[in-house]
Amino acid sequence: MDVSSEDLVPLLEPGEIRARVAELGAEITREYRGRDLVLVCVLRAAVVFFADLIREIPLPFRCVFARAASYGGGTESSGQVELDLDVREPLEGRHVLVVEDIVDTGRTARAILDAIEAHRPASLALCALLDKPSRREVDVPLRWRGFEVPDRFVVGYGIDFDDRFRDRPGVWMLP
Ligand code: 5GP
Ligand code: MG
Repeated sequence: MDVSSEDLVPLLEPGEIRARVAELGAEITREYRGRDLVLVCVLRAAVVFFADLIREIPLPFRCVFARAASYGGGTESSGQVELDLDVREPLEGRHVLVVEDIVDTGRTARAILDAIEAHRPASLALCALLDKPSRREVDVPLRWRGFEVPDRFVVGYGIDFDDRFRDRPGVWMLP
């Protein structure tokens, strides 16, 4: 598919994302105050959300980066999740919050949660900017979500189509 930025259809404005991220940060801060918190950024598409979210969490925490890939160059999940978790940061006995861009079928989030669960954290929760509940195939406990979105392929705010449009402010739908 050949898409140019003029074809993109607006879905979420930068201002509404900023406001929602601040709310999520405040809720997460209340939940984890006084706990040994580890925030896991799921590369690559969650990186912009993660960068904004952590600045709304005025607590001491550690960051871990995990890489997950399930999409090839297209808009359909391959169903196979490739996962690369940085295990140098010990997770055992710590409170782990996974930060994702989108929970779609739930396969990626499930794979990440299972991989982290094996490290025996004190608690494990998931936060995603976007949730596509109509697409869910695998049940995942989504503790915090920014926005529910329709079954459309979206880009912007770090989320790409073949590495394009990550830099777009706001979230957009492909035509
Ligand atoms: P799942 O494993 O839940 O089906 O898919 C999760 C991952 O697929 C997300 O973290 C995201 O990277 C990617 N994904 C799902 N929906 C979209 C979308 O609309 N646009 C883009 N660019 N990626 C998506
Ligand atoms: Mg992702």
